[in-house]
Amino acid sequence: MSNPTLELVEIREVSRIAHAAGAIVVCDNVFATPIYSRAVEQGADVVVYSTTKHIDGQGRALGGVVCASREYIRKTLEPYMKHTGGSMSPFTAWIMLNGMATLDLRCRAMAEAAAGIAAALEGHAALGRVIYPGLASHPQHGLAMAQMGTGGTLVAFDIKAGKEAAFRFMNALEIIKISNNLGDAKSIATHPATTTHQRLPQDQKDALGITPGLIRLSVGLEDPGDLTRDLMRALAAI
Ligand SMILES: *Cc1c(COP(=O)(O)O)cnc(C)c1O
Repeated sequence: MSNPTLELVEIREVSRIAHAAGAIVVCDNVFATPIYSRAVEQGADVVVYSTTKHIDGQGRALGGVVCASREYIRKTLEPYMKHTGGSMSPFTAWIMLNGMATLDLRCRAMAEAAAGIAAALEGHAALGRVIYPGLASHPQHGLAMAQMGTGGTLVAFDIKAGKEAAFRFMNALEIIKISNNLGDAKSIATHPATTTHQRLPQDQKDALGITPGLIRLSVGLEDPGDLTRDLMRALAAI
């Protein structure tokens, strides 16, 4: 699932094409989460996660993980790591392992809340597109259900009135934080056009659907009713 507009790549089909050409398939499955990822079953050879996101789940430390065959790790990844020095500290690894103890419960709660929030937002007068793969209106809803069995823990939506209105909306949020992380226990709103995707030239932003009013919402573990009320109040404040 892509960042920030939640488009899906059909892993099974891409893997078939890649393998026929002798290529290996590396899948960035951060947005799918390890709980809902079926990428290896669907043909991916290597799956990567930023553990900074759902795996830590409380915004405490930075890290990443590469899941692959022993042969790939030994022959391809380890020489690269030896030469470049990328290596997680034991304390960070301990934090990530502890995060994994609650990963399943957290992802399920967040995905369920995200589905409710997406449904509540869809059709709001201040919004253009409400993007959530779990909504029947998502162009790849069927693929999302077949590939992940969920719409995931993120929702994106477009504030029709543009950037200033999007900023007013974000500043009016009381529970949801403004930050660039995701997969956190705390719900986080991000304005991709001026932060995570700021460096992209305008034509690429346009091609990717990163509009001036686009908000990416990472749904956390707060009460879903409180989150919906926070969003509705902030939308009214535009
Ligand atoms: C955050 C993120 C990354 C990069 O992870 P870092 O921990 O910031 O290096 C890669 N892919 C996706 C989809 C992400 O959300």
